Amino acid sequence: ALTMAKSKYEYVKDFEVEDKCLPNCWIVVRIDGRGFSKFAEAHQFVKPNDIAALELMNRAAVTVMDDFREIVLSYGQSDEYSFVFRKDTQLFKRRGSKLMSNVNSLFTSAYVYHWPRFFRGRELHYPPSFDARVVLYPTDKNLRDYLAWRQADVHVNNLYNTCFWNLVLKRKMTATQAEEKLRGTLAAHKNELLFQEFGINYNNEPPTFRKGTTLVRKLVPDGNGRLKPLVVALVDDIIGDRFWKENPEVIGLKSLATFQPSGLPSNPP
Ligand code: ATP
Ligand code: ATP
Ligand code: MG
Ligand code: MG
Ligand code: MG
Ligand code: MG
Ligand code: MG
Repeated sequence: ALTMAKSKYEYVKDFEVEDKCLPNCWIVVRIDGRGFSKFAEAHQFVKPNDIAALELMNRAAVTVMDDFREIVLSYGQSDEYSFVFRKDTQLFKRRGSKLMSNVNSLFTSAYVYHWPRFFRGRELHYPPSFDARVVLYPTDKNLRDYLAWRQADVHVNNLYNTCFWNLVLKRKMTATQAEEKLRGTLAAHKNELLFQEFGINYNNEPPTFRKGTTLVRKLVPDGNGRLKPLVVALVDDIIGDRFWKENPEVIGLKSLATFQPSGLPSNPP
């Protein structure tokens, strides 16, 4: 940006409010498709889970992570993605609106940009949009619980949706009839219904549908045998401790230094 001579209009800049994220907190940006129930219908998504749509979400999220190197982990399910910035990031001076709007805008444009590769021959009928929010988590436990909350959400929704769409598509029930049959039922009952009526063992459903997708950076050898940080997609349980023991660099600050872009001060742990 150019430095300009001050004009008499300059004072309006003071109407802008400061929105710096609190230091030492994990910064999470979550985006979510706006009106994607309708968008899914308008674009004939396979119900309950359209694989191309999920892969496109993942592709857009990789674009965001490739650009914003200070994101240590991303987690996506359905029409949403959460991006976790390292807690000591100084990107955009930690300004919430800058972080949120840049992530959201890049994600959305990448979603549209890559659409033709994932939906071969299927036209995009109107421009999709996503909402976004910033949430700060002061402790590692808070962050883990946040991610566990999102993964528990996809489990609950997917179990319900799998029942719902089997009743609609295979039993030819109306939406209202299927809703009535499922109203108030517990998870155990839904598992039983899937098994008894459709011969489906829910635990054998594709893990991506049940668990969502987690993107992390891993050191992967390049053509010359040198280790390079690459974004890799994992489909795993992130609620239990095992994932975090197997991927200690995500939360641990020390190993994260590997991925720090040059020019930024390194904060002591
Ligand atoms: P930042 O990410 O901080 O906004 P920036 O490079 O976008 O960085 P701006 O102050 O927003 O900086 O300036 C926009 C830049 O884009 C200008 O340097 C200008 O040269 C260029 N630009 C924008 N629109 C046009 C246009 N229609 N024709 C030519 N150049 C343009
Ligand atoms: P809002 O604007 O409030 O977010 P929404 O219609 O997007 O409204 P969500 O709660 O975000 O509501 O739900 C996302 C919807 O998008 C679900 O109804 C789901 O059916 C649909 N959807 C998203 N991804 C897929 C997919 N891969 N396959 C099939 N349907 C999908
Ligand atoms: Mg600009
Ligand atoms: Mg500008
Ligand atoms: Mg919503
Ligand atoms: Mg939505
Ligand atoms: Mg959603």
